[in-house]
Amino acid sequence: MDELRSAPVAPQKLLVDGTWESASGAPLDVLSPIDGRKLTTIESAGPDDVARACGAARRAFDDGRWSRMAPAARKKVLHAIADRIEAEAAALTVLGVRDNGTEFNMALKAEAGSAAGTFRYYAEALDKMYGEIAPTAPDVLGLVHREPVGVVGAIVPWNFPLMIGAWKLAPALAAGNSVVLKPAETASLSLLRLAEICMECGLPDGVLNVVTGPGAMTGEALALSMDVDMLVFTGSGATGRRLLEYAARSNLKRVYLELGGKSPNVIFADAPDLEKAAKVSAMGIFRNSGQVCVAGSRLLVEQSIHDEFVQLLAKEAGKLRVGDPLNLDTHIGAINSEAQLMGNLGFVDDARKQGNTIALGGNRMLDDTGGYYMEPTIVTDVAPDHRIAQEEVFGPVLAVTAFDSDDDAVRIANSTDYGLAAGVWTGNLSRAHRMVRDIRAGVVHVNTYGGSDNTVPLGGVKQSGNGHDKSLHAFDKYFDLKTAWMQL
Ligand code: ADP
Repeated sequence: MDELRSAPVAPQKLLVDGTWESASGAPLDVLSPIDGRKLTTIESAGPDDVARACGAARRAFDDGRWSRMAPAARKKVLHAIADRIEAEAAALTVLGVRDNGTEFNMALKAEAGSAAGTFRYYAEALDKMYGEIAPTAPDVLGLVHREPVGVVGAIVPWNFPLMIGAWKLAPALAAGNSVVLKPAETASLSLLRLAEICMECGLPDGVLNVVTGPGAMTGEALALSMDVDMLVFTGSGATGRRLLEYAARSNLKRVYLELGGKSPNVIFADAPDLEKAAKVSAMGIFRNSGQVCVAGSRLLVEQSIHDEFVQLLAKEAGKLRVGDPLNLDTHIGAINSEAQLMGNLGFVDDARKQGNTIALGGNRMLDDTGGYYMEPTIVTDVAPDHRIAQEEVFGPVLAVTAFDSDDDAVRIANSTDYGLAAGVWTGNLSRAHRMVRDIRAGVVHVNTYGGSDNTVPLGGVKQSGNGHDKSLHAFDKYFDLKTAWMQL
């Protein structure tokens, strides 16, 4: 670990048509959130650089070097990529942690481990996707072919770059598409290494291209490209809206958005084990410093157990060690960037001004490291319409609101623009099913918070987005359907 954590990281390049290239503009410094020091540089791709990458992806798609490769051969490449990710999981994870600040133990599973699993899942799925023969009149043959969509632009965030990157890359490539990937500017390094692995494992040149740089320049150019047929995105609602505009202004490319949430975690007095509920709920918000799109950032607690539960939760939160994410005893690592940390603290200030109580935490910590760390923070006395209950913080800040009845719980749970995830804790089976039915969210956890795997879709309703990642349902969107109507 010591060697990995201090290994020099070479200045990074763009991957265009199988070649590592410099961009036309000046490179960007990459600061490590662990200590605020410069780790390396990434290229800052301008419109011309992005156009070259998209053109390469287009050519690679059109000449069929991957899109028309036999599925069994594509599958081999994707399995080889999964093998390599597993073989270098520790190094890949440390590189990512130095870049984005996520705690190592979790990142090992949630980043490298999960990315390898996702490549395997779609490698296995790709030769099990059949076309159809339609039940037409007997003198006609109606064939429904599945074809890859074309060039996929994938724009991903910084909180789990490998995991979320793999959610887009693996199914896109498995279906035979070409990809231009745009990592977040504060978490590009592990994805650049993944791209290198893909090349080493036999992915043909031009099938995967990587452009790094600021969202407003590099991401915009990608989203406006006439060579891109489809955008898949995870990030903020503000950027999601822009992507829809870029699509409208360019070629009407299809746009799939996963936009975060303000997810309610609802604790009923009849929950089977309140201590367990407190422990899991604490991790449901504080895991990865709350930088998780499905974070249970609103805690709705039945009035009769409100004070007891907040105490249990504060006790659990108090046990979490915040610190250097590469220290194996740490539970919670760094905030991704100074700007993000300042935003989190701004939310806490506003909560104070709105009359909320800061029941735990609320401050920056470990300033002497030069890194970006924040205390797990619990805010109580929150009304459903307060800012801290409505807007996504994307930090270790939990807003607690009491409720009186099932109807009240559902009303408050549904009272934001978001609808990504939710949790319900109850020993009453009918109530659990009613909550799953009535809470508007892409996933409702019952008597747990945050579990998932590749077999189930993840996606939001309302302003949390459209479409899904993971599972065969997500795979579908990387294919077009083409009908052949043949007179016999
Ligand atoms: P966050 O607030 O979580 O950083 P963003 O939506 O800003 O979320 O970032 C998610 C991804 O979107 C990053 O890769 C970022 O560079 C990219 N991005 C940001 N702004 C734009 C934009 N205007 N056009 C395209 N991509 C963008």
